[in-house]
Amino acid sequence: MPVVHVIDHPLVQHKLTLMREKDRSTNSFRRLMHELSMLMAYEVTRDMPTQLIDIETPLETMRSPVIDGKKTVFVSVMRAGGGFLDGMLEIIPGARVGHVGLYRDPRTLMAVEYYLKMPDQMEERDAIVLDPMLATGNSAAAAVERLKEFKPRSIRFVSLLAAPEGLQNFHAQHPDVPVYTAAIDRQLDEHGYILPGLGDAGDRLFGTK
Ligand code: URA
Repeated sequence: MPVVHVIDHPLVQHKLTLMREKDRSTNSFRRLMHELSMLMAYEVTRDMPTQLIDIETPLETMRSPVIDGKKTVFVSVMRAGGGFLDGMLEIIPGARVGHVGLYRDPRTLMAVEYYLKMPDQMEERDAIVLDPMLATGNSAAAAVERLKEFKPRSIRFVSLLAAPEGLQNFHAQHPDVPVYTAAIDRQLDEHGYILPGLGDAGDRLFGTK
């Protein structure tokens, strides 16, 4: 059964509302995405495996849990995934990073790959795919399809916003990949934009429009 986690924490919802506002500056939009990605990292890593290590407190020795950050690989779907990456790396600074470059053909709305780079030893790593907008689901599905060729130990997908059609399309192709999102919006428009949405995340993030 495909899993979708909607992260309904009040701080996440508050910041998402601010990001949706059309008059928000590039600077403010970018800062909010950074903050949101840190908050979402907390939820996405909730069930991460830990291991016990021996440490010394000022008073005693003890065995205490740590996560192995190096086993985590963030896979940023360019270009908007980059807006999620810095905040996630602040929470897990030891994580490795892969990139998948995809653009959406405006006519067919299908994903076209132009870049791919993954760290080595992917078989030992837990992959967290980052793409703020899960709209048609075509880019998300294409990114995960490519990622699966590297056989990571686990895959989860994180978006800020998702459309119902996109979630259905994505999970029809990858029912094994849980999706984490801050909201599931109403629908897509005829150009594949999420409604009510927040517009073009890449353009708003990088000030390209
Ligand atoms: N990509 C975006 O940036 N925004 C949308 O609404 C859909 C896809």
